[in-house]
Amino acid sequence: MASEAARLLDAADFAARKHRQQRRQDPEGTPYINHPLGVARILAHEAGITDLAVLQAALLHDTVEDTDTTLEEVEQHFGAQVRHLVEEVTDDKTLPKLERKRRQVEQAPHSSPGAKLVKLADKLYNLRDLNRCTPKGWPECRVQEYFEWAAQVVKGLQGTNQQLEEALKQLFQERGLTL
Ligand code: NDP
Ligand code: ZN
Repeated sequence: MASEAARLLDAADFAARKHRQQRRQDPEGTPYINHPLGVARILAHEAGITDLAVLQAALLHDTVEDTDTTLEEVEQHFGAQVRHLVEEVTDDKTLPKLERKRRQVEQAPHSSPGAKLVKLADKLYNLRDLNRCTPKGWPECRVQEYFEWAAQVVKGLQGTNQQLEEALKQLFQERGLTL
């Protein structure tokens, strides 16, 4: 078996290849891969996570939702544990957007501890990104609505990781929101 460092890099490389044609919604059109890399980095640096499967799942968390990647493919390359984590953080794209948002709020408290960590780091990254700059075509009310929805999701993820939750609470407070 390859070292943990090698397997973590395999996940980063897999995600980079899958997302290679995608860009974030920010005005600069940042390469999409910056986001999953940043989410995994938050888990390692700010939450002290060393669990390889969780870090791999963070790197892969948007591959099934946003690219042609299947859960079977994730399992083949990274095993059943990573597959299940990615499955838990993947929205059902056959559902309308509002219903997907509602489900994230509903499902958050029932997620596994590893999936809760990825969800918290994902929200933290996206909220910091929104504070850094407003995505193309977003009026200010849409940014505020995103913070309000994220607060509802994060409410159901409480008790998972103190550092991430404190950082998120601070961002919500700055927007006049409480959990
Ligand atoms: P979102 O509004 O949820 O878009 C945000 C998502 O885009 C994030 O969760 C993130 O997902 C990704 N993303 C990409 N770039 C950035 C960035 N720079 N900063 C933060 N997030 C980024 O998604 P949809 O476009 O699917 O719209 C869904 C809902 O938005 C609608 O159902 C509606 O309720 C609302 N809406 C509101 C409007 C308004 O004017 N008020 C207008 C249109 C929609 P990931 O982690 O997966 O990358
Ligand atoms: Zn994401």
